[in-house]
Amino acid sequence: MTNKSILVVGGGISGLTTAVEAAEVGYQVYIVEKNPYLGGKVAQINQYFPKLCPPNCGLEINFQRIKKNPNIKFFTLAEVEKVSGQEGDFTVSVKQNPRYINDNCTGCGKCSDECPAERSNPFNYGLDKTKAVYLPHEFAFPMQYVIDPEACAGNGCTKCADACTYNAIDLSMEAKTIELNVGAIVVATGWNSYDVTKLSYYGGGKYANVITNTVMERMAAVNGPTQGKIVRPSDGKEISNIAFIQCAGSRDENHLSCCSTVCCMASLKQATYVREQYPDAKISIFYIDIRTRGKHEDFFNKVQDETNITLIKGKAGELIEDPETKDITVIAEDQMSQRLLQEKFDLVVLATGMAPATAETKLPFEIDYDQDGFVASNTPGIYGAGCVKSPMDVSSSVKDATATALKAIQSTVRG
Ligand code: SF4
Ligand code: SF4
Repeated sequence: MTNKSILVVGGGISGLTTAVEAAEVGYQVYIVEKNPYLGGKVAQINQYFPKLCPPNCGLEINFQRIKKNPNIKFFTLAEVEKVSGQEGDFTVSVKQNPRYINDNCTGCGKCSDECPAERSNPFNYGLDKTKAVYLPHEFAFPMQYVIDPEACAGNGCTKCADACTYNAIDLSMEAKTIELNVGAIVVATGWNSYDVTKLSYYGGGKYANVITNTVMERMAAVNGPTQGKIVRPSDGKEISNIAFIQCAGSRDENHLSCCSTVCCMASLKQATYVREQYPDAKISIFYIDIRTRGKHEDFFNKVQDETNITLIKGKAGELIEDPETKDITVIAEDQMSQRLLQEKFDLVVLATGMAPATAETKLPFEIDYDQDGFVASNTPGIYGAGCVKSPMDVSSSVKDATATALKAIQSTVRG
């Protein structure tokens, strides 16, 4: 007996890739995703490097493959609660939280227009708000609204249900438990930006005009909180000089011990966002080493040659906020001139490292982790895929996830 089913935990680019690759050769795949949409961090990116194209085309292809394939079933707002069994024969208990909105939803948005309650928008890292009944983002898959029960006014409010002419809202919906039997499990829960509150020397998340590279992606996105305009969060003003601080939390034994591999390319890419919007703005990139592997070196050389972009070899030691103007002074030693620099900027972007989602949220089954919390599974039949295993860019994640699909398939046969 073999169980030709595979569970994929996480519906970001790695999870989606593993799922479609395994399903398209005949395996039954279940995707369990905690968000109300699939696509993960890639859905939040403004542009891929080095081609600077939007990520939605790549995601859309995967969504089409999922829609067409009866071998794939996905559960959003869902988390694995318990796993028992062994390679080839796992029993998995999945809790699916209520969406309060069913498949009748057309995405018309009338419910949201009438909703009186608001919530901070995690898709845009809290830079704007949505109503309590909301569409997670413009290209959400599935294209369905969802209600945040923490934000909902409750107390008998039924304004959204009253406004919905498609009978799509069920405020009495409850969580349910789903039991799955699978031969292999792929963990693709992805990554989070390293927690800046731990970087006290960079303001510990308290300076309004010090943002992370992930926030920068949302700010530069036309469907983001500023409709694509890069501005200072403190006062909405335009930028005349901006600094990027590399290795913020990476390559540091006190934080993430490893290089996060994507941050140099991310900052170089984001420098092009600034160049496009503010051709005269001064852009400074403070770095230890610029790490742009393989053909990415061409991108580095191109950006480096742009006017108004200065690369400074020296790790920023400290950031200081002017309490009145909210400008940020960067203190760093320029290793080439051996001078101590103190320069003031309108906006500072921390190239924060990739911390695995499993650094904070451990999985409810036996699996090994390394010192930074990355999955280092030695459990037969359970595999990590993509950034939960090691920092990597989108293209490497897709390759790794494809290879992991093959490992999972082998487990279903071995079992
Ligand atoms: Fe429209 Fe109803 Fe869906 Fe709201 S729940 S977007 S009103 S179909
Ligand atoms: Fe908004 Fe909740 Fe009222 Fe619906 S029931 S309109 S989600 S506050």
